[in-house]
Amino acid sequence: MSSTSLKFIDDKKLQVAEEPKRMYVGQEWVEIYAEAELPTRYGNFRIFVFRNSIDAKEHVALVRGNPLETQNMPVRIHSECLTGDVFASLRCDCRQQLEMAMTDLGSHNNGMLIYMRQEGRGIGLGNKIRAYSLQQFEGMDTVEANLHLGFDDDLRDYRVTAMILKMLGAQTIQLITNNPRKINGLRENGIGIAERQASLVQPNQHNAEYLATKAQKSGHIIPHIHELSPKRTPKK
Ligand SMILES: [Zn+2]
Repeated sequence: MSSTSLKFIDDKKLQVAEEPKRMYVGQEWVEIYAEAELPTRYGNFRIFVFRNSIDAKEHVALVRGNPLETQNMPVRIHSECLTGDVFASLRCDCRQQLEMAMTDLGSHNNGMLIYMRQEGRGIGLGNKIRAYSLQQFEGMDTVEANLHLGFDDDLRDYRVTAMILKMLGAQTIQLITNNPRKINGLRENGIGIAERQASLVQPNQHNAEYLATKAQKSGHIIPHIHELSPKRTPKK
């Protein structure tokens, strides 16, 4: 990291400015590897790139305002979805949720988007597409397909996310999520969540079933989806 960026962090009174910019929890560590300003079509953010010893992935935070001085900072934790976020896939609701969060955060002075590079809820891109194939040809839902491939329904690990939030100086946060597991995962790792803000999107014909599975099997709080009865290919 250059001295310029160090000064930048100092200016914002982030405690991580003091060397080392690495946080340890036991033997594990997370560090701020790089940061810069990032103007986007949703507004101006500061982008931080983190490295860590747990999953060896470069996770990202987009920050508006100073987390150290903000109580109940709105935070969206988004898991990478190449097909949705980049290619605008209609099989899931990731891009809609990302755009909604960026629009929301960009319209306020304080907020953070933590972008975790844990594709396919942690199973990786290749396995996510294998799961799509099982859904397409075998009539499985997301949970069944993941289990069929030998994975838990959700392999996301919130240790690194919590360490990132702490490094950025987050006090209590307001988490934008429908997923109670995310709230529990962060709380278990010492993050104070004052309240939950729902992130509800309209389903389309391709993702209605996926959303219904999220609501019915994975415990996501999406009341307008819960009512939908998934139309599934009957299993033999
Ligand atoms: Zn997605």
